[in-house]
Amino acid sequence: MRVLVIGSGGREHALCRSLGLDPQVVEVHGAPGNPGIGQVAQLHAVDPADPQAVAGLAKRLGVDLVVVGPEAPLVAGVADAVREAGIACFGPSRQAAMIEGSKAFAKEIMRAAGVPTAEARVCESAEEAAAACAEFGAPYVVKDDGLAAGKGVVVTDDLEEALRHARACGRVVIEEFLDGPEVSLFALCDGSTAVPLQPAQDFKRAYDGDAGPNTGGMGAYTPLPWIPEGLTEQVMREVVHPTIAELARRGLPYQGVLYVGLALTAKGPKVVEFNARFGDPETQVLLDRLETPLGGLLMACATGELGLDPVFRPGSAVCVVVAAEGYPAAPVKGDAITGLEPAADAYVLHAGTTLRDGELVSAGGRVLNVVGAGPDQESARARAYELAGRIRMRGAHYRTDIAR
Ligand code: AMP
Repeated sequence: MRVLVIGSGGREHALCRSLGLDPQVVEVHGAPGNPGIGQVAQLHAVDPADPQAVAGLAKRLGVDLVVVGPEAPLVAGVADAVREAGIACFGPSRQAAMIEGSKAFAKEIMRAAGVPTAEARVCESAEEAAAACAEFGAPYVVKDDGLAAGKGVVVTDDLEEALRHARACGRVVIEEFLDGPEVSLFALCDGSTAVPLQPAQDFKRAYDGDAGPNTGGMGAYTPLPWIPEGLTEQVMREVVHPTIAELARRGLPYQGVLYVGLALTAKGPKVVEFNARFGDPETQVLLDRLETPLGGLLMACATGELGLDPVFRPGSAVCVVVAAEGYPAAPVKGDAITGLEPAADAYVLHAGTTLRDGELVSAGGRVLNVVGAGPDQESARARAYELAGRIRMRGAHYRTDIAR
């Protein structure tokens, strides 16, 4: 099998690494990729959000499968173009990806499918937003309807701030606050059926103790020893299967990963958000533990032939995100990076890096992902932090309490 992975972050580095370990996979290509991905895949310069360019590249390379990492290419219609070119694609169509591309659409699907989620109102004006905030009370949850790269949601006790965000966005979804720990569950879907990966948790706030602004994610770990028994089965039954059945009923068969962000509330698990792609950095820890060969699994999704549930190795994996100075507000780029040699049971994935005159430098806010694995959470954590401590980059910072 020849596979092309679209994207250039830590998630795509993890995908390419795992694909390379699948004995069925003879070639891994990445577009546009990054220097870390370049160590495990052949890189191709292409605009990842240009459907015709991606489909054309896939044809030229003669790949059997295209795997789309980020949401923007999906919402732009990359999966549709690849399938129209006669190539299998792991990733939902433009219209099915609207479960992430529009919060209002996601709410509408959940309502029709009877999926447990926060009560919500779609608001188009300042008056409607004020009425919805008054209805639900504090803390206020105000979400930009469209894609906002993880920055569209404001959760606040300050009514003025909530209404300011609503005015700035235009069309928003305002909803009931869900109280409880958050869990990510990813389901692999083949259009008509779905299988779960194991639950994971990410750390969205910038600083230790869940302080500071929201980010794209500062770390993750799996499995979660503290979740209720049977949670995965319950979420498959109450959320995943009804959602993909509702999408199929509307002529939008869902092929790819359905990312279910959950809050474990006193009234049971409720959906906080859907995403149409793998979560970053949860994917980095899940793929470390995944025993089932990845290429065959993603191909089965793309061809409607999913079978048994994926199998995970025992033990734990922890990912620590190393960020650039100034992240998340104003990340500084162009700092030299050294100290990336892997250790036993720990390695570094590249997220925001580039080569400048042959030297590795930072090129984004989240620069590196350090993954540590071990027989238990404590050892996985220790291995990740030991390696993170050896990385040298001016201004680098990371949370010290991931998976604690
Ligand atoms: P979203 O983009 O919808 O995932 O929201 C980003 C983050 O905002 C989530 O991971 C939660 O931490 C928080 N959030 C979103 N919706 C709610 C809600 N209804 N109640 C509490 N927190 C929420």
